[in-house]
Amino acid sequence: MTRTAFYTGSFDPITNGHLDVIENGAALCDRLVVAIGVHPGKTPLFPAERRAEMIRAVCGESLRKKGVTLDVVTFSGLAVDAAEQAGATIILRGLRDGTDFDYEMQMAGMNAVMKPSVRTVFLPASPAVRPLTATLVRQIAAMGGDVSAFAPAPVVAALKEKFAKA
Ligand code: ADP
Repeated sequence: MTRTAFYTGSFDPITNGHLDVIENGAALCDRLVVAIGVHPGKTPLFPAERRAEMIRAVCGESLRKKGVTLDVVTFSGLAVDAAEQAGATIILRGLRDGTDFDYEMQMAGMNAVMKPSVRTVFLPASPAVRPLTATLVRQIAAMGGDVSAFAPAPVVAALKEKFAKA
């Protein structure tokens, strides 16, 4: 039986924090679906296709080596519906702090009522990535700061290119 985990987020762009969840989550499944939530009306820094491209570039190889299949999809409705559609029994979420915990517990509780067949699994952030948020990575990069400690090289390059043009 293939165990599929569904990892949702904005990934705008993927950071070392997301990578931490992906690498640890890979121990729990044979197939990992990274699901990019797209919200009509919200303008992301990178279009979904570009975010997907970066995700594949930074973790495809490492997951392949672990024997885990990576799929990258987009979704716009309920995460539990998208997870079920993808054949997943697990929704992966990362926990950084108490703020994540409070929000994630509410979401996990309501998702469990809506779709009991899909379990939420929380992964604690590794100490080195606990402070990272994609929002701060974007802000630092926009102000010309060095984000190479917070995001993988292809993402750092994409951010440099984006803000060099701006
Ligand atoms: P962010 O909150 O950084 O903008 P997302 O909205 O894409 O990122 O988050 C998607 C998921 O990834 C959430 O479960 C979030 O808690 C988790 N996540 C994001 N950054 C980290 C991190 N640094 N460490 C652990 N989990 C993280």
